[in-house]
Amino acid sequence: MTTTPADCCADSEQKLLPVELARERILKTVQTVTAVEQLHLRSALGRVLVEPLVANIDVPPFANSAMDGYAVRSQDCPGATETVLEAIGTAFAGRPFKGEVSRHQCVRIMTGAVLPEGADAVLMQEHVKRDGERISFNGGPVKSGQNVRYAGEDSRQGDIVLEPGIKLGAAEIGLLASVGVSEVRVSRRLRVAFFSTGDELNATGTPLAKGQIYDSNRYALFGLLSKPAIECYDLGVIPDQREAVRAAFQQAGDMADLILTSGGVSVGEADYVTETLGELGEINFWRMAMKPGKPLAFGKMGGAVFFGLPGNPVSVMVTFYQFVLPTIRRMSGEKEREALLIQARCSGDLKKAPGRMEFQRGILNRESDAGWSVSSTGLQGSHVLSSMSKSNCFILLPAESAGVKNGELVTVQPFLDFD
Ligand code: AMP
Ligand code: MG
Repeated sequence: MTTTPADCCADSEQKLLPVELARERILKTVQTVTAVEQLHLRSALGRVLVEPLVANIDVPPFANSAMDGYAVRSQDCPGATETVLEAIGTAFAGRPFKGEVSRHQCVRIMTGAVLPEGADAVLMQEHVKRDGERISFNGGPVKSGQNVRYAGEDSRQGDIVLEPGIKLGAAEIGLLASVGVSEVRVSRRLRVAFFSTGDELNATGTPLAKGQIYDSNRYALFGLLSKPAIECYDLGVIPDQREAVRAAFQQAGDMADLILTSGGVSVGEADYVTETLGELGEINFWRMAMKPGKPLAFGKMGGAVFFGLPGNPVSVMVTFYQFVLPTIRRMSGEKEREALLIQARCSGDLKKAPGRMEFQRGILNRESDAGWSVSSTGLQGSHVLSSMSKSNCFILLPAESAGVKNGELVTVQPFLDFD
C-alpha cells in the first residue's frame, strides 16, 4: 500500500508500523540482481555465490596419516604382548613410500603422508620405542583405521560443498581451494548511491558556522556500505532545496540499484525527500513503531530501491541494520538467515514507555557462570552517536514493554549479526 506523509501522519497512533511488518513489506518488493560475474577465488571473498559448487575430487584425495609415527598392519599389533616390528622406510607428506608393508613390518610416517600399501593404522611416535630398524610397542590392540584420515572424509567427489546464496568468507574460499576450484560465479556488486540532506551540514575539515553540525551520516553509511559485495557512490551533501534534492534523486536513480538518503523525511518545512520521491518515483512513507528511527521513506526511484532514512545518526544506523541490510542481502542473492538473538541478564534498570519497539544500545558482558549480562551505554537519544561506538549490541525491547528492572532477562542482538 502506498501512503503519503499526509495520510500517514494525520492519524498518529494507529498507523505506527511494526518493525517486522515493515521488513516483510520491504522484502516482498525487492528483487535479486541477476547479473553474474566469474571471479578468481581471492576476488570472490565477501561475494555471494550464485551456483552450487561441486567437489571435483575427494578431500583428502588419499588415505593419510593424522600423526607423526609408524604405519602398521593392525593385525600385527593385537596388544596382549609387546609388538616388535621392522621399519622398512619412511613416508613423508608429498613423498609417498613406494613399497608395501608386509607381516611384522612398519614404515616411519609423517602427518599428511600417504598411508603405504598394506598398512591400515598408525602408531603415535610417542608410544613407540625405536632401536635401529626395530620398533617396539607396548599397547593395543590397535584398531584398523587408528590415526588414519580416509579419502573423502572432508568432501566427497560429486558432493555439493557450497550452496548458492552463501557469502564467501575465509572458510569458504579455503574450502573451494581444497576441492580444486579456482574460479566461481558470484552476483555482481550492488551499486549503492547515498547522500545527506540538510542546510546545517558541514563537511569535516572546515570550521563550523553557528547552527552548523558536521555531516556524520555519510561517514557512518560509508562504513556500513564498504563491503566487497557493494560498490558505493557518495553523492555528498544536498541542501534543503527542492531543485537540488530533485537533481540528486535523478543522478542517483540513473546509477544505482539502491539509493539511501538521510534526513529530510520528517514533516518539517524543509523536508523535501518524501515529497520528491512521491513526485519522481513511488513512495511509501511509514511512521515506524520503533525507537530510534520513527520516520522512514521506502520506495522506488527509476530502477532503484529507495530508502529515505531519518536524519539522526543513531536512527540511520538502526534503520540500516533492521531494513537496509536485509534488503542488501536479498538484492545480492544471499540466502535469508535468522537473526542472532541471545538472552542476557540486564545490569541496571532500563527506562521505556510502551508503544514502540526500542533498540537500546548495550554492552554485552560474559558472566562467570558462562551466561551473559548486558548494560546500557547511558543516554539513549537518537543524536547520541557515541552510544553506537560504546556498544556491541542492541537491547531489543518489545513495543509493549514498560521498562526493565535490574536482573530481568532481555533479548540482545550482537552487532556480530550485521557482518
Ligand atoms: P531531519 O530528519 O532532516 O529533520 O534531521 C533530524 C536530525 O538529524 C537533525 O537534528 C539534523 O541536524 C540531524 N542530521 C540530519 N542529517 C545529518 C547528518 N548527515 N549528520 C548528522 N546529523 C544529521
Ligand atoms: Mg534536515
